[in-house]
Amino acid sequence: MKIHEYQAKSLLKKYDVPVQEGLAINDMKYYDDVISVLKEKGISQFVVKSQIHAGGRGKGKVYSRENRDELVVEGGVKFVGSDEQKGKDYAAKLLGNILVTHQTGKEGKEVQTLFITEGIDYKKEFYIGILLDRTVSKNVIMASTEGGVEIEKVAEETPEKIIKIWIDPSAGLLSYQARELAFGLGLEGNAYKNFIKFITNLYKAYEGLDASLLEINPMVLTDEDKIIALDAKVTLDDNSFFRHKEYAELKDENEEDPLELEAAKYNLNYIKLDGNVGCMVNGAGLAMGTMDLIKLAGGSPANFLDVGGTATPDTVENGFKIILSDKNVKAILINIFGGIVRCDRVAMGVVQAAKNIHITVPVVVRLQGTNAEEAKTILDESGLNLISATTLEEAAAKVTEAISS
Ligand code: GDP
Ligand code: MG
Repeated sequence: MKIHEYQAKSLLKKYDVPVQEGLAINDMKYYDDVISVLKEKGISQFVVKSQIHAGGRGKGKVYSRENRDELVVEGGVKFVGSDEQKGKDYAAKLLGNILVTHQTGKEGKEVQTLFITEGIDYKKEFYIGILLDRTVSKNVIMASTEGGVEIEKVAEETPEKIIKIWIDPSAGLLSYQARELAFGLGLEGNAYKNFIKFITNLYKAYEGLDASLLEINPMVLTDEDKIIALDAKVTLDDNSFFRHKEYAELKDENEEDPLELEAAKYNLNYIKLDGNVGCMVNGAGLAMGTMDLIKLAGGSPANFLDVGGTATPDTVENGFKIILSDKNVKAILINIFGGIVRCDRVAMGVVQAAKNIHITVPVVVRLQGTNAEEAKTILDESGLNLISATTLEEAAAKVTEAISS
């Protein structure tokens, strides 16, 4: 699960990772109060930051929500110094409008939250990222003097400028490794000492938070040689949520795909894609295989959907509803291998769904395994106009053909 910068920074603070003071608002009526509170803390310069689940906000563009062609302001993050009116005018232009960055795609994201933070002066920007390197079963820390820049660009054009240190998770970050990073970034004196503390705490945060990605771009060196996380992008590992009950409230449903949220309510494992063949499959592996075969047959899957091992007629009906809510879907392929799930129950679900929802697209059905014969009888006797298939190749070919005809 991705979280917002303001949430990430409040988590990092608990691990003594230095971040700027700041407060989040979702309505301009709180703006003045937030500035007063921050001023009472001795802060005199401010940064106004759009909170969306995507990077590249600084270089993004803000468009009007009412008129998507109208450019409201350049940049979704701005250092406004001590000019209070400038900050307020800018904030009003962000809130409720659409921020488009290189990571959001053309449709952009609505800015529903702003983070108002202390603005600091600094002399240098760095990049720090911590993530899991699955190929070696270790965590990797990536660091670069090319901070504030898209790291993908650095990796492509000047890969020698990225230092990588692999951390054995059972040993943690060792002090010689922290020193190696500090030397690699050319840090000396107090900057060096402060960085060692910073990276040690940051790695503890990565582990303690059960993060799968922690990216600080930029980490900055101030004029007083302090090291501060100016930005923070954190992805939390969903598999750890059983031991972090508090993460539930960090979820921002505005950032999730509405169909995926709906599917989660029914315990369906659904991921929307941009093709036109709706897929209803049981088991993640078979779902992947089905998507591959649709591609091979020349089609393009509209979604990944694993109805799970306990599919009931209701699950199947809900699956249909979700698949058909996607207007791109031009045909549906149901591919169920009956093991624990019995094919006859799936067939009953198909019949029930057809009664309750208006299915306007061709449906290809392949049911194999437990009670497949009974399932066939149910479908044959239902009077529904279904296309049946025996092998997976045949099913994929038939569904692709149904779309092109
Ligand atoms: P991103 O564009 O989504 O990665 O957002 P960042 O949080 O990294 O901010 C974008 C840019 O705004 C930074 O690279 C800085 O150039 C600038 N910025 C953000 N906070 C400050 C600050 O406190 N002081 C100054 N001088 N610039 C800042
Ligand atoms: Mg950044």
